[in-house]
Amino acid sequence: MSDTPRTRKIARIQNGIVIDHIRKGRALTIARLLKLGELSQSWDDQVSIGINHSSKIGIKDYIKIENFELSRIQLSCVALVSPGATINIIRDTKVVEKLSAEVPDEIGDFVTCPDPYCITNHEKIPCRFHVVAREPLTLGCHYCELEFYDKLIVFKL
Ligand SMILES: [Zn+2]
Repeated sequence: MSDTPRTRKIARIQNGIVIDHIRKGRALTIARLLKLGELSQSWDDQVSIGINHSSKIGIKDYIKIENFELSRIQLSCVALVSPGATINIIRDTKVVEKLSAEVPDEIGDFVTCPDPYCITNHEKIPCRFHVVAREPLTLGCHYCELEFYDKLIVFKL
């Protein structure tokens, strides 16, 4: 791979993950959901976040995190914020696994129902949602049947 003026090389990481092809402007939301701000206080490991980075596929964001693994819920969160993002798992500077952040059909108890009257906002019932549409991503509440999308998708994490 050669560097061109429009594609700057980012420091390689030894072990960890690279979340790539994040939709433009969404990296900070993912960083917040992964609590990278809190983690970095107690870490010596490198975190790099690229925003509006030019690449062959156009403008994108990315996040590189040393010595980090994504849980299944965190992977679902990445998928909800930026469907189609790629997660590269790095060992000894090599990509050993590539995962695609696919939006699951069912969303568990890590998103809140925006309807204030929904039973999940009054009783200790785990939230459940199904995907109504993928573009734009629209969720339906299992209990009150409200359908919502975009900024109304609020994470509990
Ligand atoms: Zn609801």
